[in-house]
Amino acid sequence: MLDLTLPETAFMNTVLREAAQLAVAIQAESAASAMLKEDSTPVTVADFAIQAVVACRLRAAFPDTVLVAEERAATLRAAGQEEMLHRIAAFVARVIPGATGAAVCDWIDEGMGEPGDRFWTLDPIDGTKGYRRGGHYATALALIENGTVRCGGMACPVMAADCAADKMGGGILALATRNGGAGYTPLNATDTGFLPLSVSACTEPARARLMRSYESGHTNVEELETVAAHLGIPPDQCVRMDSQAKYACMAAGRAELLFRLLSPAQPDYRECIWDQAAGALIIEAAGGKVTDLRGHPLDFSQGRKLTNNTGVFASNGPLHEAGLRALEHTLKP
Ligand code: AMP
Ligand code: MG
Repeated sequence: MLDLTLPETAFMNTVLREAAQLAVAIQAESAASAMLKEDSTPVTVADFAIQAVVACRLRAAFPDTVLVAEERAATLRAAGQEEMLHRIAAFVARVIPGATGAAVCDWIDEGMGEPGDRFWTLDPIDGTKGYRRGGHYATALALIENGTVRCGGMACPVMAADCAADKMGGGILALATRNGGAGYTPLNATDTGFLPLSVSACTEPARARLMRSYESGHTNVEELETVAAHLGIPPDQCVRMDSQAKYACMAAGRAELLFRLLSPAQPDYRECIWDQAAGALIIEAAGGKVTDLRGHPLDFSQGRKLTNNTGVFASNGPLHEAGLRALEHTLKP
């Protein structure tokens, strides 16, 4: 059973709700305008504001903590970014009264911690492209100890209350601990409590619902089609969705297979830990299986990236072997 009284789960339960509210408010009020980072990926007011709030809360709740998070404040501190920083600080000040631009930058840079024996990892807005497009996105937070994800949580602010992949709704919050199971609650429910998350029992590859990134540039569409064909999965059972929200869908039994194949434009891409830690644990704690594309366990002991892994393959469990065989048949050695 998921224990919500543990300090870590109680913390995630509170801070991820705060993150979801901020993301929704910023999207409604500021059209989620973005600037580009050095790697040409977008970052919005919400990415910065949420990282600042979670870092500040984390420091207050667990003073010795180390945080490894996606964003950094260097660009905000640069000349010409005063207006952007002012907007971020105004949103942060709604939940942390008196927050200044300088304090916000310092909180964001708490995320530059060194991944060691015990640290938290945060993606303030996973699926920034989805967030800007009106698609799915998530705030993902996880605690990693000695290379193992101990607990993880994810707010998916636009997911339907039943985690169905084909519609959107008022959002859900999913939490998991290693050996303690996974649960979720609709974000706008006051009396539902946490419901158990449990993967699908499907054992027939051809009936599997397959999830992939919405962004074609984050995967290999041609190889995905070959994998699906090899498994006998028709195109209408392939679902596109942004962010780790996919992992919540799968944990809730709404999909059976999830592939992160390597884009032909970036064959050496390695996953960032904050893009996988919370989602992978939630799937595993719901009874599913997560490996890389060769069947190796994800190795969270290598710093900010999963340098020992290529891509990610998650399944409900019974279909994992079939999925790996389809990958072996499709991917070049
Ligand atoms: P998704 O919406 O599932 O594709 O996941 C979004 C995440 O994909 C973002 O947080 C990015 O960090 C990550 N991403 C960015 N570029 C790539 C890429 N070339 N291949 C795979 N993932 C990427
Ligand atoms: Mg991300």
